[in-house]
Amino acid sequence: MSIELGFDPAALRAKYRTERDRRIRPEGSAQYQPAGDYGADPHADPDFTREPLHDKVDAVVVGGGFGGLLAAARLRQVGVERIRVIDKAGDFGGTWYWNRYPGIHCDIESYVYLPLLEELGYVPTWKYAPGEEIRQHARAIGRHFDLYRDACFQTGVTELRWDEDAWLVSTDRGDRMRARYVVVSNGTLDRPKLPGIPGIETFAGHTFHTSRWDYDYTGGDADGGLHKLADKRIALIGTGATAIQAVPHLGRDARELYVFQRTPSTVDVRGNRRTDPEWAASLTPGWQRRRMENFLNIVAGGQAESEDLVSDGWTSSAHMLHNLTPVEVRDTLTAAERELADEIADFQKMNQIRGRVTDIVQDPATAALLEPWYRYMCKRPTFSDEYLQTFNRPNVTLVDTADHGGVDRITPRSLVVGDREYEVDCIIFATGFSVGMSDVLTGQLPVHGRGGTTLREHWGRGLRTLHGFYSDGFPNLFLMGGLQNAAAVNFVHILDEQAGHIAEVVREAEKRGARRVEPSSAAVEAWQEALGENAETLYKFHAECTPGYYNNEGMPRMRQGYGKGAVAFHALLREWRESGGMEEVMAG
Ligand code: NDP
Repeated sequence: MSIELGFDPAALRAKYRTERDRRIRPEGSAQYQPAGDYGADPHADPDFTREPLHDKVDAVVVGGGFGGLLAAARLRQVGVERIRVIDKAGDFGGTWYWNRYPGIHCDIESYVYLPLLEELGYVPTWKYAPGEEIRQHARAIGRHFDLYRDACFQTGVTELRWDEDAWLVSTDRGDRMRARYVVVSNGTLDRPKLPGIPGIETFAGHTFHTSRWDYDYTGGDADGGLHKLADKRIALIGTGATAIQAVPHLGRDARELYVFQRTPSTVDVRGNRRTDPEWAASLTPGWQRRRMENFLNIVAGGQAESEDLVSDGWTSSAHMLHNLTPVEVRDTLTAAERELADEIADFQKMNQIRGRVTDIVQDPATAALLEPWYRYMCKRPTFSDEYLQTFNRPNVTLVDTADHGGVDRITPRSLVVGDREYEVDCIIFATGFSVGMSDVLTGQLPVHGRGGTTLREHWGRGLRTLHGFYSDGFPNLFLMGGLQNAAAVNFVHILDEQAGHIAEVVREAEKRGARRVEPSSAAVEAWQEALGENAETLYKFHAECTPGYYNNEGMPRMRQGYGKGAVAFHALLREWRESGGMEEVMAG
């Protein structure tokens, strides 16, 4: 086998395992600590005040990122009048409000990632748009659907309580408003985290987290030009998707840059380019939906699409990973044979990624450290035509921390790894976010349903939803995100499907004059049965992976999702709507 393939699968398997084992930390996710003051909002007015609100609206949407904006927009389209979006941030945008680090770009193609392009008559200026353009698009959605009128910014929802026929919504600004419907879309990657490196609090130089970039310190803006760093020695900790985008700017502008790496990311070809105006002018109605569906089918549906409209690193990788075996042959294979075929395709993809590193990075020792040894989807894939090249600069040093579980120690002036000490002026944490827990699940946002029961109590022995949206005992409450449903890499598309579905359900409730939208217990039970088909395969995949947030730092949990994936899930929702499913959720 090794002769035909040109590589030895057993040797690669063993190498992946060794590389994983040297990175496993027994404390798992507990190695991190919350960002505390690092999480403060650098963009909003700290002196902002307003009178508390004691009014009534049709719908409250918790969260003003793309999920919340889509929910509000789709509700507006079905005729809901008073919609109040509430967000802790000072404006719409969610992750694009907070993250403004240099080099920030969409890493999914903008034409499928930015929502509601046709509704707004907008075509992004780049194939992968800069963050500021995306943030401005979020604001434009707010204006287009008249969502600023009732929005509450710099406001945190502190409690939701069902009260006869509406939700009582309390906030940290003393508001007590009533809302007939509540949609919760408060994100999953919204809390910056710091590594629990001993001595971190003793550092006497400057520090900040990438999601709260300090341009006062660095100078410049998201396009770069960090002129104040010309005489500074900078340490950047972390090499995930954020670091991949920021490092080229820091490398160009800082006197010295030390990149502290524990696990290298996969860095594939980006190929960003300006939007061709002729192409933009040629688009016909329905183009964005067609393109989104096409992308989803290719990356998440395992489907052989005759045309690849997006044609980029994501879709070419998906082709490579799925299409090693033709469908007609694949159907005849046993599960073990299919797994082997997938693994071989994965080795080929990763060999290509590793080959790119050695082609680009001139110093062989640095190149060796930048080669990733794990399966492609163990970590979030990244794409850049500048990141690897940055390590060819004389002022940029890659510091490997893999054998130490990360940076060993921080002193008032330096970072220590093994017996080496790196003196720096500033430490930038590109160490990511606490993941996967919506405020509803953690209990941070208490939700009291009919009879005062809390959602946490109700879910004490496990999640209970229909389609991930609603739970029995919690009328007119819709949850968006990744609970008991199917996700995919273009998460904004997933959120749009969810928002559209919620709006259709609300439209039906209004048409029927139903007092409550609430799934029957039987419908919830039936959904639990339908879930989990693939949970075990996914669990096994993640158990073999190098640690990261995808696998709970090497301690994967059995995740309940719709095993047949997002394409099938969307079809299921459509069919449910068309074949009388609404009966299951209309009450009173
Ligand atoms: P990640 O969680 O992906 O990366 C954190 C990094 O910090 C990892 O490289 C991690 O290493 C490293 N790290 C953590 N602790 C230590 C330590 N003690 N010593 C050394 N290194 C350490 O965060 P990101 O902000 O990069 O990305 C988060 C997510 O945000 C992405 O996965 C993606 O989903 C999204 N994103 C999307 C973008 C887009 O354009 N759509 C752009 C940027 C981010 P290790 O891997 O070993 O744990």
